[in-house]
Amino acid sequence: MGIIEATGLRKTFAGEVPVEALKDIGLVIEEGEFVGIMGPSGSGKSTLLHMLALLDDPTTGQITVDGIDVLALSSIQKTSFRLHKLGYVFQEYALLPELNALENVYLPLMMLGAPAKDYGKAAMEMMETVGLGKRASHLVSQMSGGEQQRVAIARALVNHSKILFADEPCANLDTRNSEIVMKLLRQLCDERRQTIVMVTHEPEHRQYMDRVVWIKDGVMDHEEMCGQ
Ligand code: ADP
Ligand code: MG
Repeated sequence: MGIIEATGLRKTFAGEVPVEALKDIGLVIEEGEFVGIMGPSGSGKSTLLHMLALLDDPTTGQITVDGIDVLALSSIQKTSFRLHKLGYVFQEYALLPELNALENVYLPLMMLGAPAKDYGKAAMEMMETVGLGKRASHLVSQMSGGEQQRVAIARALVNHSKILFADEPCANLDTRNSEIVMKLLRQLCDERRQTIVMVTHEPEHRQYMDRVVWIKDGVMDHEEMCGQ
């Protein structure tokens, strides 16, 4: 069984003119896979990611994540599931500028009620994993975009998230920093068997991925194996 299994996903946004953003998408993602979602602007990539990541509900369809029928969960259960099992990285880093990097990374553990002595250590280990051990005490507002995104990745994974969801995480980064972030994601996949689902519109990112799901007008166009 895949770590994510989705069938018959449809999402229609209500409005004066309803938008059918997703039309009958089916998808299986295996544990430890690094999967890209690609396609033209407005094709439904972010909408699909939001459904798989439990950030929004489909209009119809079925989704199991880690064996759980997630659409059957109550809103409180869903929040708990997200906190314990899922990690998120977006185009904007969404870090707290008045906190240092380490404090940003341990916030999710505080929210989960971990003892203070444990969360400091776990956060520091994650900072080292993303190559920023020496910068743990720096304010994130004084870090480069690439460093801030690596702090955001550390924060997303500090709770041992089973799946990392990323929506255009390199969109605000220059080529060099994008490469550092993509190599880091690949390394997390290789060394920790981290499952990663990432939206991107950069064809060069395929070299770091196992597979790309191409979306067009809300339907799956084709899948591409990337030969990692
Ligand atoms: P992509 O990420 O591929 O650029 P999106 O998933 O953001 O595309 O959007 C797919 C379609 O759904 C677009 O036509 C977009 O305008 C529409 N859409 C996305 N989110 C909303 C929303 N919250 N309300 C209404 N329409 C939306
Ligand atoms: Mg998008």
